[in-house]
Amino acid sequence: MSTNDCLFCKIIAGEIPSKKLYEDDEMLAFYDINPMAPLHFLIIPKKHIENLMELDVSDSGLIGKLFYKAQELAKEQGCEQKGGRFVINTKTDGGQTVDHLHIHFLGGRALGWPPG
Ligand code: 5GP
Ligand code: ZN
Repeated sequence: MSTNDCLFCKIIAGEIPSKKLYEDDEMLAFYDINPMAPLHFLIIPKKHIENLMELDVSDSGLIGKLFYKAQELAKEQGCEQKGGRFVINTKTDGGQTVDHLHIHFLGGRALGWPPG
C-alpha cells in the first residue's frame, strides 16, 4: 500500500483528525477511536513502515524510541503502578487492520490472557 492510501499517514498529515497525546519529528501518539480499555492509545512512526515484519535493521533505533515514549505516556496517563499491555498486531493472523506499524497501549483495567 502506498502512503497516499494509508489511514495513519493521513492522520500524520492532519488530513484526518485525531486526539493527539504526543508528537515530534519521528512519531505521533493519539487515542484509539474505538478504545478497548479505559486508556487506549496508539503510537506510530511518521515513516510509513507497513508492519513489524517489514522492519529494516536501520529502523531498530526508531522502534526503541517508540517503546520508550509509549511507556512514558502510559506512566503520565496513570498506569505506572498497575501497568497494562503494549501490543503490535502484525499482518493477518495478528489481526492487523491498519497497514502502518503501530504500538497499542491498553491500560486502566485488568486484561485477559491469552487473546482470543
Ligand atoms: P490494528 O487492528 O491494526 O492493530 O489496530 C488499528 C487500530 O486503529 C484499531 O484499534 C482502530 O480502532 C484504530 N483506528 C482505526 N481508524 C482510526 C481512526 O481514524 N482514528 C483513530 N484514532 N484510530 C483509528
Ligand atoms: Zn502509513
